Amino acid sequence: MGQTTLNIHPSAGSGGPTPPPHKDLYAKREQIYPKLAHGKFRLVKWVVMAVTLGVYYLLPWVRWDRGEGIPDQAVLADFQSEKFYFFFIEIWPQDIHFLAGLLILAALGLFLVTSLLGRVWCGYTCPQTVWTDLYIWVERAFEGDRAARMRLDKGKWTFNKAWRKLGKHTIWLIIAFWTGGAFILYWHDAPMVAQGWFTGEAPLSAYWFAGLLTLTTYFLAGWMREQVCTYMCPWPRIQAALTDEHALNVTYRYDRGEPRGPKRKSESWDERGDCIDCDQCVQVCPVGIDIRNGSQLECIHCALCIDACDQMMTKIGRPTGLIAYDTDVAVAARAAHQTPPRYRILRSRTVLYTVLISAIGVLMIWGLATKATIEANVLKDRSPPFVQLSDGNIQNGYTLKLVNKISEPRTMQVSITGIEGLSYSVIGMEHEGAEPIELPVEAHGVDRYRILISAPAGAGQRQVTITVKDTETGETDTNRASFRGPN
Ligand code: SF4
Ligand code: SF4
Repeated sequence: MGQTTLNIHPSAGSGGPTPPPHKDLYAKREQIYPKLAHGKFRLVKWVVMAVTLGVYYLLPWVRWDRGEGIPDQAVLADFQSEKFYFFFIEIWPQDIHFLAGLLILAALGLFLVTSLLGRVWCGYTCPQTVWTDLYIWVERAFEGDRAARMRLDKGKWTFNKAWRKLGKHTIWLIIAFWTGGAFILYWHDAPMVAQGWFTGEAPLSAYWFAGLLTLTTYFLAGWMREQVCTYMCPWPRIQAALTDEHALNVTYRYDRGEPRGPKRKSESWDERGDCIDCDQCVQVCPVGIDIRNGSQLECIHCALCIDACDQMMTKIGRPTGLIAYDTDVAVAARAAHQTPPRYRILRSRTVLYTVLISAIGVLMIWGLATKATIEANVLKDRSPPFVQLSDGNIQNGYTLKLVNKISEPRTMQVSITGIEGLSYSVIGMEHEGAEPIELPVEAHGVDRYRILISAPAGAGQRQVTITVKDTETGETDTNRASFRGPN
């Protein structure tokens, strides 16, 4: 294994970033001990963590009355009945394009936020960031802040070290278990599966996925931490294509900070920068980098270094904002001793993303508002493609699937046209001839009927039209199917 090699980089008189320390590709990971930061961004992160975790753990327990016989869980991916419920929205397999639309909206939303605020998703809301933050909080509770944790790890194994490590890993595992357990609640009725879990009656898949999520949470948030962001996640690479020089990023102000160096109280601020090389921005960094080395792939833009530096600036009586959200154009302007341009929200890419999000959003709302509540699907028998009856007529068999998406049973009138002289029968129902037939369909369900269509022998290869109509509302759906006969 190679060792990390640190370059001694010049800090005096620099107008731009000093290069980051060179690291061998296969360098052994150095354990990072992030120090607790205090400030407005840390507070925002606590709030985001509480809200996102609260939503994740509690949402499956929220009930939503949809009528008798329909799941009353507000958010549920019901694989058994092949439906997805999200409060008042109900996605059937036939509406899968809405899920695709939601995914596209989420991706475009992420693109928009990235082009405006850089990697704000990574720094605040990504599950890896949120759970790692939670795990570090637990670690701090048992082992203390950065210096205490470093001392503990360097020290020999004692009872004190053992119980602290044991306590930390126990709580980590409990959190991991709750995380895995909460995941399965999203695709089962939460109270039932939670009860069944402890009595051994939950489905095997529930145990399997809960176990998998428990292990991944424990290892990714507890052990892997920043390595997931740096080495495993594709987002840092993708986001480079989504931002431009006008996006806001956590940035060190070289023009203000350099030349840096420790400072005595008696020394003047003339001829030197505001950075006193206190290392606080590095110590709070959860990925262990030095923002003063410029924009780096590892930086998740959590802004904790802003808090650390602002605290230090306040302490030494200098203006805050030595590390701040800034754009690349502003940084370049300052380096050239020019006035930095104002931050521009309206840029071609932000306008494009906004227009796309609005257009897809409007389309989806319109689609949901006008979503059909009945649907008919026809599947023709493949084998045999047709049979010749004793009277010489040709008969084809079909399966008609009638979908009723409302919570009341309905009667649907089915009529079949397209071939002169055709007649049809529905197995299990009294019907002969070509007159429409009324078929009952259960509430919020799918009923299947076998239909046999006969036509005179000379009909050949034709198409039949099957129209399904709700006798009360008049809502209709039409399907076409092929009719086969001898050539
Ligand atoms: S450099 Fe600053 S913003 Fe980037 S990850 Fe470290 S603390 Fe967060
Ligand atoms: S916290 Fe601020 S003053 Fe301290 S080293 Fe970082 S940039 Fe310099």
